[in-house]
Parts: sequence; structure tokens; C-alpha cells
Amino acid sequence: MRTCQVCGNTIFNERYYSHNEDGSVNRDFCSDCYRNGHFTSEITGAAHSDERFASALNSVSRRYH
Ligand SMILES: [Zn+2]
Repeated sequence: MRTCQVCGNTIFNERYYSHNEDGSVNRDFCSDCYRNGHFTSEITGAAHSDERFASALNSVSRRYH
């Protein structure tokens, strides 16, 4: 059981984990926040000033790019 690093929701079920672009499971985020290697806010173009989101984005950038 993990907590989404963006929205803070607890992820109870494997199916709610997000996925990376290559299809592997990303247990840092839920499927609402992160999908196919992209944050959903990036996909929708929503502005994100949330501090937690920014730090989560940084940690992903460090790890996956
Ligand atoms: Zn989330």
C-alpha cells in the first residue's frame, strides 16, 4: 500500500497505480495523477502551483529523465 506523491491519496489496489510510458507500473502515483509517463495535469494543460506537485515532478525528472 502506497501513497500518491501528488494528491496524497492512499493507493489500496494495484490497479490504481499509474504507469510509465513503457507500461511498467509506477507506484509513486495514482492513475488519476499520472498516466502513461505523463502527469494528467500536463495532458490537460492545467496550471499547477501546488508545492507537492512541484516536488513530485522534480523527483520524477531526476529518476526518469
Ligand atoms: Zn494521485
